[in-house]
Amino acid sequence: LNSNNTRAQTSSAITWISGPPASGKSTLLLGPLREALAAGDFTVRLLVPTATLSEHLRHDLARTGLVLRRNSVGTLTRFLNEIPISLKAASNSQFDAILAEVLTRNCPEEFVPLQESPGFRAKLLACLEELALAGAEPEEVPGPVGRVYTRLRQALAKLGAGLRGQRLEAAAAWLSQAPPQDLPSGRLFLLDGFYRFANTELKFLEALAARFEVRATRVSDSPSSPALRLPQRQPLITKATPLTREQEVLAMAREVLRLAGEGVPLRRIGVVLRTTRVYAPLVENIFARLKIPSRSYVGVELSRHPWMGFVRDWVAAQRSAWDAEKALAALRWSLTGLGNTSTGDSLELFVRENLPAPARTLFPQLKAWESWGQAASSQQLLAEFDRLREWAAAPRALAVNPENAEVQAFHWSQFMEALRQWRLLLELAAQGLAPETKLSAAELWDLAQLEGEAATLRDRDRRREVVHVMDLEESRQWDLDYVFAPGLLEGEFPRRAQPDAFLGEDLRARLGMKTMREREAEEDQLWQVLLTRAHRQLWLSHPLRDSNGEANLPSPYWDQIPGAEAVAPLPWLAIASGPVRGTPAQPTLLPNYRPNKAWSASEMEDYVQCPFAHFARRVMQWEGLPALPSQRLDALLLGTVVHSALEKWLREPSARLPEIAAAEFDRKIAEAGIPVNYAVWMERLNLLRVLSLYEKSAPAQSPGWTSLAEQMVELTLDGNIALRGRVDRLDLSPSGAARIFDYKYSQGRDLEKRFVQSGLYTLATAARDDVCEVQSFTYLALKADEALKEISGERLEEHMVAAAAAARQTAAGVAEGFIAVRPADSKLCQYCEYIDVCRIRTQMATAEDEVDDETAEGAA
Ligand code: SF4
Repeated sequence: LNSNNTRAQTSSAITWISGPPASGKSTLLLGPLREALAAGDFTVRLLVPTATLSEHLRHDLARTGLVLRRNSVGTLTRFLNEIPISLKAASNSQFDAILAEVLTRNCPEEFVPLQESPGFRAKLLACLEELALAGAEPEEVPGPVGRVYTRLRQALAKLGAGLRGQRLEAAAAWLSQAPPQDLPSGRLFLLDGFYRFANTELKFLEALAARFEVRATRVSDSPSSPALRLPQRQPLITKATPLTREQEVLAMAREVLRLAGEGVPLRRIGVVLRTTRVYAPLVENIFARLKIPSRSYVGVELSRHPWMGFVRDWVAAQRSAWDAEKALAALRWSLTGLGNTSTGDSLELFVRENLPAPARTLFPQLKAWESWGQAASSQQLLAEFDRLREWAAAPRALAVNPENAEVQAFHWSQFMEALRQWRLLLELAAQGLAPETKLSAAELWDLAQLEGEAATLRDRDRRREVVHVMDLEESRQWDLDYVFAPGLLEGEFPRRAQPDAFLGEDLRARLGMKTMREREAEEDQLWQVLLTRAHRQLWLSHPLRDSNGEANLPSPYWDQIPGAEAVAPLPWLAIASGPVRGTPAQPTLLPNYRPNKAWSASEMEDYVQCPFAHFARRVMQWEGLPALPSQRLDALLLGTVVHSALEKWLREPSARLPEIAAAEFDRKIAEAGIPVNYAVWMERLNLLRVLSLYEKSAPAQSPGWTSLAEQMVELTLDGNIALRGRVDRLDLSPSGAARIFDYKYSQGRDLEKRFVQSGLYTLATAARDDVCEVQSFTYLALKADEALKEISGERLEEHMVAAAAAARQTAAGVAEGFIAVRPADSKLCQYCEYIDVCRIRTQMATAEDEVDDETAEGAA
């Protein structure tokens, strides 16, 4: 214990031990527990805030040879259950049902518009729980929240139940007058690991302290604590800034491997996380891939387990009367054996190609599940839910890949744990219902989800020689030599404190509830905790880029440690994530690279925009899955409708263009199996409006000229580059003068700059026998205010020259097998379907960083 930093202080009957992080508060507190256990005395009990912390401390004490009883170390919540009070606890779904009832009967006007919005009741309930924990009386809470608080307490009182704060107050009252023989067992109660006690918790502890000896730790709030002081431990601090989160974790893993190579025991290494939701799965996956044994103490939220996702999707499919798209979403989870398998891919392809066929014809198995829509008793529904287990595939990989058996076995054990907890949630939801209640499976599932909102899956791994992965809040009791802390980003650490929308900060302060300022102060405390976690080395890092390639802002804490050693980017990581290189294709590929056929303007535009995209689309023919019916009304289909309507109108000018277009639209929609909904109807109205405007402003045909629709044009350049295209509208004079029109169902921004189509079409049209001169090439941008974008004279000449040069360059590039990732216009990459294949984001980010570095050097 560093006695300079820690001061024992007595407030009422509780003895407080406070001081900065790592000053020895816990060591001092746990001393009497160790001594008592060593002497076989079990009257000293330790209470902590979470089950994980309790488990860790139990193991820690047991490792030193001490024998514990079951109640020697436990949580405060569990201890509260030992106090025999009449006020019952209610489950989440019961609370929610009571609150829903309160709001249905008497919803304050202010909450009426919000009542049905998702998450509103859960947030309101959390606020009411907090009020009760603060010991607030209903008359102290003004406005609509106060009215709901009053009614909820009244409703609970009728059922003999109460919020947690009310139960703590009842337990305090019981303790103060209970006869000695009824008191819980114990002599000395120790409380460790709490950041803050709510008012009712303090009241309970005071009552406990009136009957027993109570000691508790708390982080010092003394203003004399220097903000960046590192008491006792002064580890080497290293700062790393890899490009992405993946690279950040890879860099940590590499450092762990280096340390292990130097003989550092893995159990002395920890990964401490502030943003567990993002980093915990990443660390688990990357460490497993690199065969680094690790054990996570970060509970995985049960609701995020694949089994829960599968059940959620399954229920959604049933709710939609087995809509095929929704049923497919459920069946594509890996656990069914259809996700991430070629059989599953084939099934998805089959379904997508046959949609909108009814789901029952695509999945005949669904017939066996028709009873799910009917109301039944909760016991019958539990049996129905049990049938879902049929979908869970066995861990075949255990036998197939023995190298990975340990990881597979762990995943399987977590899966079994998820199944167990899922069944418990359903039972809990069923228990809250009257026996005669009939409801649907979906309704029972909704209740079970409420029960499981805060449920977590804990890692039951018992290995010792592992890297420990934990939440920063729980890291206080750990003693580690090397600590890695990724994710030091603005908004993530410190977490952004949001003002309370229900109560307001003034009321919170008045009622003794945690305020924004206190939440911010807690983040600062956590930063101090992090700085004192490691004895030897603390590795801090943040990714430079987010998943969209945008620059990240570092945490404000980042610059508070100027003396830290910076780590250079790791070369092997840079290579591993670099762009696909534009090397010539393999000789074996060249003969088949592109069969000798005519080029269309659109194919050539593909190559000019990006050789790699051309290679992927035209040579490899990499295609995504067919679009689902709801996604099929895309720009391509709308363009086809417009072209076809305009072609018909050109051939039959006396007809009304909107009428032709409406018929074409309806025909195409029916052919594509697109369900007609509001969005489709709006698109139809818009298209008809655009074309009825065009009908009035279409370029008139000059006297004596002929307008031809959809004219084929061809040309062979240099005797070996065949070009072919289809002109939307070709106006011809009797003397052979020609004007070309091309329809675009768009705003047509920057169309005049696109020279490939205009140049090639002009060259090919000029080669026709019936044409002696092309006067103009005009884009008709149907959605633009200025629809006509005419190119003529010298500019048209320039387009022809540039297009011919591009054609020659393209042909040469293809002959060499040149497939570089080199977009002519990188802004178009956001629409490219190969953006996840070519790694252009990494290429761009690296290039930008190089420019930044050069600029910085220049400035220096
Ligand atoms: S995203 Fe850009 S760079 Fe990548 S393939 Fe597509 S066009 Fe080329």
